[in-house]
Amino acid sequence: MRELELLYEGKSKQIYKTDSDDRVVIRFKDDTSAFYGIKRANIEQKGRITCDISSMVLEYLNANNINTHFIERVGDDGQLCRVVEHIPVEVIVRNVVAGSMAKRLGMDEGIIPENTIFDLVLRRSDLGDPLINDHHAVAIGLLSYDELAKMYEMSAAINNRLIELYEKAGITVVDFKIEFGRAADGTLVLADELSPDTCRLWDKETGERMDKDRFRRDLGRVRETYEEVAQRLHNVLK
Ligand code: UDP
Repeated sequence: MRELELLYEGKSKQIYKTDSDDRVVIRFKDDTSAFYGIKRANIEQKGRITCDISSMVLEYLNANNINTHFIERVGDDGQLCRVVEHIPVEVIVRNVVAGSMAKRLGMDEGIIPENTIFDLVLRRSDLGDPLINDHHAVAIGLLSYDELAKMYEMSAAINNRLIELYEKAGITVVDFKIEFGRAADGTLVLADELSPDTCRLWDKETGERMDKDRFRRDLGRVRETYEEVAQRLHNVLK
């Protein structure tokens, strides 16, 4: 595989063409942003660390028969991934109430609901990424009811595997965001990172936040805490 020119650059990733039409290299940047880019920073080594964590997690999911776009790690901050047709919705899976759900429903962070919660969000930053439901998603032609059912089934399976993995690392999976794509044969594939940038992770003993809330809420020690997550996962998976 040869890495070729830059195809796209976003706030936290770069996507490079390769000499194979159905493969891209995704590179993780040190840049971080929150609140629609209003708060920004460059956190030294963040690209390498989030790539490391996301590679371990996606490899674990692949090994547990969950289809992901991840093929292999490329260098410190890159992943060779399958090209998929991206579906512009986010699924947010919640095991513990936090963040926007706590705010929207006037609930305290930390409440554990009886059931797992799945939110559907339309990726339209010009509209503020609105919360939508299944019927909206079908009506605007994003995906079919059958695909939605499959997407929730995969999201639940991913949640179970993440809880199991992080449990061994002494970490509670509070919530996370995932996006999907369609492979050439139409099957759904997880096409996203899974790292402290996209998951809320709380230390089981101390309740310490080990995720992007450290940056969003100015809690400090962002890099050190991400490193700690990576180290714990390495210990679990070695
Ligand atoms: N999340 C994300 N990207 C987004 C929005 C949310 O990765 O654009 C993640 C976020 O890190 C958290 C989960 O999705 O783990 C739920 O986020 P929430 O809806 O509570 O929004 P927030 O509090 O981040 O505004």
